[in-house]
Amino acid sequence: MTIHKDDRPTRPAETSTAAPRATFTGHRGLDQEEALIFERRGSVTKTGVDLPEPSRTKSRLAGLERTAPIGLPGLSEPETVRHYVRLSRKNYSIDAGLYPLGSCTMKHNPRLNEKIARLPGFADIHPLQPQRTVQGAITLMQMVSGYLLELTGMSAVALSPRAGAHGELCGMLAIKAAHEAKGSKRSIVLVPDSAHGTNPATAAFSGYTVKSIPARADGTVAAEAVRAALTDEVAAIMLTNPNTCGLFEPEIVAIAEAVHAAGAYFYCDGANFNAIVGKVRPGDLGIDAMHINLHKTFSTPHGGGGPGSGPVVLSQALASYAPLPYAVREGEGFKLVEDAETAGRQGNAPLGRLTAFHGQMGMLVRTLAYMLSHGSDGMRQASEDAVLNANYVRAGLRDVMSQPFGDQPCMHEVLFDDHFLKDTGITTLDFAKAMIDEGYHPMTVYFPLVVHGAMLIEPTESEGKGALDQFVATLRDLAEAASRGDAERFKQAPRLAPRRRLDETKAAREPRLRWKDDGSCA
Ligand SMILES: *Cc1c(COP(=O)(O)O)cnc(C)c1O
Repeated sequence: MTIHKDDRPTRPAETSTAAPRATFTGHRGLDQEEALIFERRGSVTKTGVDLPEPSRTKSRLAGLERTAPIGLPGLSEPETVRHYVRLSRKNYSIDAGLYPLGSCTMKHNPRLNEKIARLPGFADIHPLQPQRTVQGAITLMQMVSGYLLELTGMSAVALSPRAGAHGELCGMLAIKAAHEAKGSKRSIVLVPDSAHGTNPATAAFSGYTVKSIPARADGTVAAEAVRAALTDEVAAIMLTNPNTCGLFEPEIVAIAEAVHAAGAYFYCDGANFNAIVGKVRPGDLGIDAMHINLHKTFSTPHGGGGPGSGPVVLSQALASYAPLPYAVREGEGFKLVEDAETAGRQGNAPLGRLTAFHGQMGMLVRTLAYMLSHGSDGMRQASEDAVLNANYVRAGLRDVMSQPFGDQPCMHEVLFDDHFLKDTGITTLDFAKAMIDEGYHPMTVYFPLVVHGAMLIEPTESEGKGALDQFVATLRDLAEAASRGDAERFKQAPRLAPRRRLDETKAAREPRLRWKDDGSCA
């Protein structure tokens, strides 16, 4: 990378990962190349606003003044606007097209949610305001809590976890607190090998040793395998339902009974709740703790790192360990219980706090807007349509792609493996990259790990038949090209994206996040 010290326009440097340059500028039609803001900084004296020179005052920095230039990019307001707009156009999103990322439930976020979340009474309040001035917000939190309990059949809910993984931590710490209260020092958590990576990570982070349970040949977990692994050392099982292969665990009730009989607790990873809302209540299945990704199931926006929201519902056995704060009725309104002593007087033993304040308020507002605008029948239909859409995609592709666990119906997402690419020299990664050239964000690939070359497709309920038909036709075309031996289309992909194949492993292992003045990155 180079900094252009003078203002003369030069042909921008080519990078090895960029698509072959066809133009002088590096722009591809109206898709503009854009340098880092630091690479294109003009003069640091250039600013977006004109302010009069400050009057001379005596410095009160006691010799701590900056001596070197600050190194800010000197851009005018229109230059700044263009920089960020150009970058934003490189971002694929659910608002731009179908986003079939399995396990992520990339559904449309109704704009009504956004409108409601921007009401000043929700958007402009502060968590340190006196509680009597934010009774509406606390009431909203109580309403969301009530509906989550209704939908899950559980006893208590903690709204503060900021994502699914954070919710897992909350649930596992509640389980740990319950064991400790009984004086039990159990050290093992059972996790099926199809689990999302956050499950074993959470168990380990909570101080447990992870013991893996193999999946059966049909992709589900056998109660027998769980029974065989249960000892008086086992604190809990962490199971996902529907599981990461897109299948409902048929023996879940027997698993819950075995886990409880062994004195352990049942944590359910609820990331796939979108498949069963209004159909099955996790509490009725014997689950003790489950996180709900509001940013998946309840349509609040996600991607690009946040903000998520991962409330945790708890069974009667764990309810008293729910973290602070929680709300109780007081007179006409609500009061937040924020300290362990008060909670203790109410018979609770909170595991502590997970966040400084009360969680992602904006996501709670969007969730309530989603719940109230859908109603109970609408939420149930959303789940039914999500399952229908996944099976529509499955039916459209099953003769040209391969399903690892046989030709059986799926829940809200459909799993394929790379068997259909055998002997073509084309990998799952190549296939996914070729989808980018066709204007589709790839599905989740190489997850779950129990399937070779996994491709996990979750269309969600918000895609219509036309969009699904187009998607199926595109994947059929790719699958047929692969079986014809048109390897070029895959090995060179993406050919049309602003960047070609990136070394994603290296990017994850050796992230270079800091730009240095000499144009290098560190
Ligand atoms: C998304 C997901 C998680 C983690 O949720 P985050 O909100 O991303 O932290 C855990 N388990 C499964 C199965 C998931 O799909």
